[in-house]
Amino acid sequence: MGERYANVIVDISHERVDRPFQYRIPEQLAGAVQVGSPVTVPFGAGNRLRRAYVVEVTDRPEFDPGRIKEIAGVDENGFRAASQLIRLAWWMKERYGSTMNQALKTVLPVKEKIRPAEKKTIRTELSEERLKELRAEAERKHYRARERIFSALLDIGEVPWEFAARQLRVTASALKPMEEKGWIRVDRAEVYRNPLAAVKAGAGRVELNAGQRAAADAFIRDYRAGKPGKYLVYGITGSGKTEVYMEMMEEVLRDGKQVIVLIPEIALTYQTVMRFYRRFGNLVSVINSRLSKGERCDQFERALKGEIQVMIGPRSALFTPFENLGLIVIDEEQEGAYKSELAPRYHAREVAEERAAMAGAGLVLGSATPSLESYTRALRGEYRLLRLEKRAKKDSRLAQVEIVDLREELRKGNKSMFSFRLQELMEEKLGRREQIMLFMNRRGYSSFVSCRSCGEALKCPHCDVSLTLHRNGRLKCHYCGYEISMPDRCPSCGSPYIAGFGTGTQKIEEQTKKMFPQARVLRMDMDTTSRKGGHEEILSAFGDGEADILIGTQMIVKGHDFPKVTLVGVLAADLSLHAPDFACGEKTFQLLTQAAGRAGRGEDAGSVVIQTYMPDHYSIQAAASQDYERFYREEMSYRTMLRYPPVLRMLAIAAASPKEEELRSAAAVMGQTAEKYSAVPGGRPAEIIGPVDAPIYKVNDIYRKILYIKHENYDILLKIRKGIEKLELPVMLSFDLQ
Ligand code: ADP
Ligand code: ZN
Ligand code: ZN
Repeated sequence: MGERYANVIVDISHERVDRPFQYRIPEQLAGAVQVGSPVTVPFGAGNRLRRAYVVEVTDRPEFDPGRIKEIAGVDENGFRAASQLIRLAWWMKERYGSTMNQALKTVLPVKEKIRPAEKKTIRTELSEERLKELRAEAERKHYRARERIFSALLDIGEVPWEFAARQLRVTASALKPMEEKGWIRVDRAEVYRNPLAAVKAGAGRVELNAGQRAAADAFIRDYRAGKPGKYLVYGITGSGKTEVYMEMMEEVLRDGKQVIVLIPEIALTYQTVMRFYRRFGNLVSVINSRLSKGERCDQFERALKGEIQVMIGPRSALFTPFENLGLIVIDEEQEGAYKSELAPRYHAREVAEERAAMAGAGLVLGSATPSLESYTRALRGEYRLLRLEKRAKKDSRLAQVEIVDLREELRKGNKSMFSFRLQELMEEKLGRREQIMLFMNRRGYSSFVSCRSCGEALKCPHCDVSLTLHRNGRLKCHYCGYEISMPDRCPSCGSPYIAGFGTGTQKIEEQTKKMFPQARVLRMDMDTTSRKGGHEEILSAFGDGEADILIGTQMIVKGHDFPKVTLVGVLAADLSLHAPDFACGEKTFQLLTQAAGRAGRGEDAGSVVIQTYMPDHYSIQAAASQDYERFYREEMSYRTMLRYPPVLRMLAIAAASPKEEELRSAAAVMGQTAEKYSAVPGGRPAEIIGPVDAPIYKVNDIYRKILYIKHENYDILLKIRKGIEKLELPVMLSFDLQ
């Protein structure tokens, strides 16, 4: 056998080294050195021994073999978790295209200074009665922080410090007087409790119904047999998915293993997090994007030391360095936020799958409206499909959904943003002191042009996506570059009433106040929530009944449980339908279904009004009848016809340069190179589209072009990407895999 070489990343904690270095693998270590192995190597001129991680094993020397140093040894005590994460980083670099440094930075939190993690817990000696009295008093006096602490103590008995600080937003200075009055005490402990004891002590348990039991048992059986697999829990909103996850988690925790639970940031609310605390107490830690890098690192350190067993958080919680991971749960797996917008532009679902495979852990995805991707994989048998068919609470019913045709409203002379039907229902609900949510999906989409008479949006004839209106008055397709000037009449019906569409939440607020002056109105969007904690504050105010109407963007429809809401109005369902994105039908369906799920969570049946110019669109129809399967069939036939993911995979390669000429010629070379590598022996070649100008062609004086490549087989895309990378063109490249 010939020589073997290991490419290693040296001394990662110092973050100085951004490329692999090559070492020879000595014969006696041949079996022990694998990708991810922690090793020691002589490094630098002084040949000091350094810790390193193997990221690749190869038989090809990268330079004169006589000058390649040898690996000194394998570090038996190295972090297993860290080595798995390094392997994961390597996998991400390869798959998504980024530098190793970018990938490492994604999986390994930056160490700032290490401070001893002190575990603090807020406890009380007071009786339940006394706590309730104090809470009532705090409420009267508008001591919000106090009220929240008392509520939490009543709810879970004792409150972990971090939970108080982050979820309840209670500061040390607010606790001080409470401590002085002898209401609470803050215990500082270095010793951690026995995890198993905490699991047993866990309260907040419900008796699972038959469907939930079957779903949980499917996982538990496989887990006990030592073969945890991949599962998709598909159940309507309120069907009790979270209870199912917790049942599965308990099994894994009892076995001494750890769990990562991904929840989209926007749904990481007090209510949600509290449920996990109630059940698993101090085993749980939560991270979110408001943490500094150092704080995140502290949390990860605690995980590494075994002080916590469950990490809950958005995307980045996936990289919690648990040594003995048993399960990864991804709730709301269809959420767009699981995809990273920075290189490596990974999807948490894919990375979770890889990490679970490395650790021998189970993977559980959950959704009321699974992504097309996941549902397709479940139908193919790659995920085990676990269905929950009914709402968990006996008395809760699905909302009554009505579609209102806005073209009709215009014909009837209604030029306001509220249809007659919506006005009528609002009147009725306000009269009964019930709550209303008005939802406008405005943020994040560029403007499109539609006809107010017939509802048609102006679309690209080649791509079936909406044309985007530019400031110069031109309409452009961002997939193929097709471009026309703004017509003065609707191409379908000839009406002159065509215009760029878009109405903000602020305008709705004004109109609502004018139309219902007696109603108390709250608005939640980017502007009102940019302040730290603004988001939770508005939601809890609404939850506490401080307003009758909550107006907002998609933020308000995700994962909040307001039992008094009996009416949800979707003001312009089409807004998300015309995004220049092949997946906009899917996003619309998901949003509308979630919005509908907000009404009638309590005892009263809810009403939902969906206002739209396209009442016949299948996304809207299927959402109104809460019929996921119908939506899935229609959307898949559309994707199949136009050859979009998940029917095949699509890679977007973006090239950027401040020099337009250089970009143009580089893009041309990229196109030719893609063409060259696109052939598939005995199969259909990869489809190449573009290069076209990026949706925003020039940003900060940097020009950008995009090349799209489509094929069923990911390896072909990878080959093309590598071929293009190897050209070393004088442009910045970035990759996006869908
Ligand atoms: P999902 O995550 O599917 O939206 P949840 O797990 O949040 O559903 O459950 C919705 C509501 O039903 C919650 O208030 C939960 O406590 C309650 N619930 C769930 N399962 C049961 C059950 N088996 N018995 C009684 N209540 C349940
Ligand atoms: Zn028209
Ligand atoms: Zn086009």
